[in-house]
Amino acid sequence: MNVPFNRTFVSGREIDYLADVLRSGKIGGDGPFTARCNSWLREQTNCGKALLTHSCTAALEMAALLLEIQPGDEVIMPSFTFVSTANAFVLRGGVPVFVDVRPDTFNLDEALIEAAITPRTKAIVPVHYAGVGCEMDAIMAIADRHGLFVVEDAAQGLMATYKGRALGSIGHLGCLSFHETKNIVAGEGGALLINDPRFEKRAEIIREKGTNRSQFLRGEVDKYTWTDVGSSYLPSELIAAFLWAQFEEAEAITRQRRSLWDRYHSALARVGESGAVVLPRPPPTCAHNAHIYYLLLSNLDARSAFIDRLRERGVQSVFHYVPLHSSPFGKRTGRTHGTLSVTNDVADRLVRLPLWVGLEALQDGVIQATLDALRPAGSQAKVLERGLARPG
Ligand SMILES: *Cc1c(COP(=O)(O)O)cnc(C)c1O
Repeated sequence: MNVPFNRTFVSGREIDYLADVLRSGKIGGDGPFTARCNSWLREQTNCGKALLTHSCTAALEMAALLLEIQPGDEVIMPSFTFVSTANAFVLRGGVPVFVDVRPDTFNLDEALIEAAITPRTKAIVPVHYAGVGCEMDAIMAIADRHGLFVVEDAAQGLMATYKGRALGSIGHLGCLSFHETKNIVAGEGGALLINDPRFEKRAEIIREKGTNRSQFLRGEVDKYTWTDVGSSYLPSELIAAFLWAQFEEAEAITRQRRSLWDRYHSALARVGESGAVVLPRPPPTCAHNAHIYYLLLSNLDARSAFIDRLRERGVQSVFHYVPLHSSPFGKRTGRTHGTLSVTNDVADRLVRLPLWVGLEALQDGVIQATLDALRPAGSQAKVLERGLARPG
């Protein structure tokens, strides 16, 4: 067996749409495929407006510009996240304030946010870990009470909902990723979802190097010019064409991932109940997108041993974030609120299992290897048999 942690899904139509773009002779940004992707995202998520970007990192940077983050402004976020969540705000002189995550979802713990707010706080950035929604009702209520903005880092969240609302469509702004490690991909790519109409016009300008080119392309002005700060955040039509082929399959991809996720969950339920590992516990308010199937081992040593044992059996499994508050640059630029004990604990114990469309034929082997790797030598066969029994 040789099972990689991830394998990129391709629908097969990417190449046709790329050929369409090449034949059109126009490969720059904001052509017909970009327009199609933007409107698909708006309809899919029910956001106010969607703009494709080079990456989720780029969308987060646009958010920091739109919120006019000034040096010293504080931005509340989890430490258990990817560097871009913080970097986008640090680029503007912002100070990440790291708050602990909930022990059940590893999402920003909404109960700890209010105590971390100071007169300098400008925004809250919840990260929907594993495509499971944060407790957005509570977070939006806190933001309202204190006059703060909410930027959802929904990099992992396309095709997932919180109380029926798409992740990324709830905060003032939302940021998606189509990086090759996500469920729906363009190699590198992302989108900014704009839910507060006050940001719509300026977002277009910031994305187009500070010019009103978007208005010019729509025929609203007769020439375009420099009107604001900005940068280059719009991807080429080649990216949009590739992505369009993926969007066409978004439902099917999500369905297949969900079925792989559910299969892990039922096959590992016994070892979960036995206390040998902790399995994911997405709350019933969230329809997740099966971005990650993870296990929590008992400690760092147990996790390292587990990853080694799976590797010996030909299965690649990987841990996740080094918490930002413990990274060299996070220490220099951010501050922590509270002990971050859940974050520290989870970072040592979490391991992710392979999960990709096409894994179906290999998944029982991965499950067996997982159960083997979890077992103290001796009573292997019995646990295996119970763990593999399908319900019904
Ligand atoms: C992947 C990811 C990002 C970065 O996305 P890019 O598109 O690679 O810039 C940011 N935040 C989180 C939580 C992510 O998982």
